[in-house]
Amino acid sequence: MPKRVGLYPGTFDPMTNGHMDIIKRAVKLVDHLVIGVAINEAKKPLFTLEERVEMLRHEAGPLTKAEGVDLSVEPFDTLLMYFAEKVGATTIIRGLRAVSDFEYEFQMVGMNMKLAPEIENVFLMADAQYQAINSRLVKEICALGGDISHFTTPYIAQHLAAKFPRKPTVTKTPKVVALAQEKSKP
Ligand code: ADP
Repeated sequence: MPKRVGLYPGTFDPMTNGHMDIIKRAVKLVDHLVIGVAINEAKKPLFTLEERVEMLRHEAGPLTKAEGVDLSVEPFDTLLMYFAEKVGATTIIRGLRAVSDFEYEFQMVGMNMKLAPEIENVFLMADAQYQAINSRLVKEICALGGDISHFTTPYIAQHLAAKFPRKPTVTKTPKVVALAQEKSKP
């Protein structure tokens, strides 16, 4: 039987538990999973390409190994379908988060089917608890000193923490503090 090669493309800046959940599902469908890391300089990624690739290898490695699936994590900066043909993908895997993703993905798939009709496009949904997670918000929460442990693995959280010097969590605004001090005066 020919090998089923799935290509899961994205920016992964950084990978989240949403991506992890999609990878866990994808490994049940393919013999070889290629994670394509879009260089995406226009999006000004927080993590370098090398960091994004390393984090994906570290976290996705055990998931693919457990299912006996081969894993490659490769950067790309060409048209997705050219990259898909280059790696011999039989399927493109995308995650769907919300209805808002659908419109864009629908158009993309329509175009991709014209460019490479032999490659199938598959959409996977993450478990409900992970559907709302997105890399941009995780970065924002971390930058503001919030708890991101529900959104990423401890390994990714460590990398994020290293990007943002620790800030004390602000629970009260200066105005609230001043009012409280005023009240407590004898
Ligand atoms: P992109 O720049 O392609 O949107 P992302 O790294 O944000 O790159 O996402 C890569 C893929 O993973 C996309 O198909 C996206 O829909 C999917 N994805 C990201 N987060 C989630 C999530 N929480 N649930 C399901 N799919 C997700």
